[in-house]
Amino acid sequence: KGFDLTDAETLAQIEAARDVAIPDAAPLTVTPATGETVAVRNPVNGETVGHVTQADAASVSAAIEQARPWDAPPSERAAILRRAADLYEENFGVIFATLAREAGKSLPDAVGELREAVDFLHYYAAQGEALTAAPRGIITAISPWNFPLAIFSGQIAAALMAGNAVLAKPAEQTSLIAAIGVRLLHQAGVPASALQLLPGDGGTVGAALTSDARINGVVFTGSTETAKLIQRAMADHLDPGAPLIAETGGLNAMIVDSTALPEQAVRDIVASAFQSAGQRCSALRCLYVQEDVAPHLIEMIKGAMDELRVGDPWQLSTDVGPVIDDEAQSGIAEYLKTNANRLIHQVNVPASGHFIAPSLLRVDGIADLEREIFGPVLHVATFRGADLDRVIAAINAKGYGLTFGLHTRIDTRVQEVSDAIKVGNAYVNRNQIGAVVGSQPFGGEGLSGTGPKAGGPNYVPRFCLDAQVTTPEREQI
Ligand code: NAD
Repeated sequence: KGFDLTDAETLAQIEAARDVAIPDAAPLTVTPATGETVAVRNPVNGETVGHVTQADAASVSAAIEQARPWDAPPSERAAILRRAADLYEENFGVIFATLAREAGKSLPDAVGELREAVDFLHYYAAQGEALTAAPRGIITAISPWNFPLAIFSGQIAAALMAGNAVLAKPAEQTSLIAAIGVRLLHQAGVPASALQLLPGDGGTVGAALTSDARINGVVFTGSTETAKLIQRAMADHLDPGAPLIAETGGLNAMIVDSTALPEQAVRDIVASAFQSAGQRCSALRCLYVQEDVAPHLIEMIKGAMDELRVGDPWQLSTDVGPVIDDEAQSGIAEYLKTNANRLIHQVNVPASGHFIAPSLLRVDGIADLEREIFGPVLHVATFRGADLDRVIAAINAKGYGLTFGLHTRIDTRVQEVSDAIKVGNAYVNRNQIGAVVGSQPFGGEGLSGTGPKAGGPNYVPRFCLDAQVTTPEREQI
């Protein structure tokens, strides 16, 4: 389904789901587990969205004991994943409502997320035999809250299609949508012993799932700090052959030179930095503008920021929703306070709710960025044409290598920069978005990730040129 948000009938169907009851979440294990129950709060207004019964170390151990690699023939496994994709689409109402109320997703973001989840299920189903060559046994899949259905489903689908048993631990903030996904996968025919859900705290449930010698591999997406903790836990407890596939954070840069088309560059800068309230791993964090065009371009960015509407994610007119929770809001607010002397521009936001004002800060370069600020905060620096090599060296020196953007009309520069920059995904004259399942494998280098990349078996870092990227039709994936 396209979920065309300009179509009145589709909109009416989505609107009907606004207040739909969202089912509570609990460990979905072979033997039901009970533990402490916590409330999930809506990041817009603090209302209770549902409740989650947490797993604990004992339920993790029982789930590992009961996990059984999925030994159905690959064609059957693929058919079941495709059936799950259909069930995801049929259940779009409760999925959109949960993404909006639990994760603060705007409707276009929720549509994109469901689409990506469905694409991942079809993509890995289509890999069929190619993936089944190397099942490992029991795989732990740990996911973040910012793509709580898409990344979650992609990790699970890849590991299941390879014939593993999966123990999935969603982020604390987004267990409700994870439970919906796992119930639909079970309903499609994935055996309970091949896929178990263990919601709970990272420090207890996540740690138990990465330090038990019966685990044969870990797939992780989240922050670089957590990836390091997991790597250490695995080194201490797991078989040395157990792989860690990690997709982590980034300090993503974009270079805009004097030849760039300003309107296009500004549209892409603002989308890359502020969509999803900056809570995308791929989001633009540090913009470099060539100094002769900088004053004009920065004025244009300020103007485009003023057009952003910040507020209720369920309203189609909203461009920027809330950040995920109290902790995120206070952490980013603190950063903005400490860096108030760098502030160039800021947008007004609603007084209540977990909103952060989209902000533009001046820096001398990426070296000034201490860490990934996971919110709507863009840093801007200027550079002289003769210093382009130094800018690229500074970006590479930072050690992260997730996404990178370049706006230029000099053809030879595209090649030069692509040879020099060390990133997983680069974008030329376009929005610095994330994954495009099936046509653009996604993942980082250096501190931004390790292991094969999601959404493409033969990962080759490559530039993603304007005309080449389209969302593939499912049949072609
Ligand atoms: P996070 O690292 O705080 O949490 C991710 C997951 O790890 C959660 O499920 C959490 O419970 C779990 N966890 C926490 N401590 C753990 C431990 N000691 N052992 C095992 N598991 C533990 O990240 P987040 O805040 O949920 O997500 C935001 C981060 O994810 C950002 O840094 C973002 O850049 C990154 N991210 C990267 C990609 C990518 O593809 N590279 C995609 C999305 C998000």
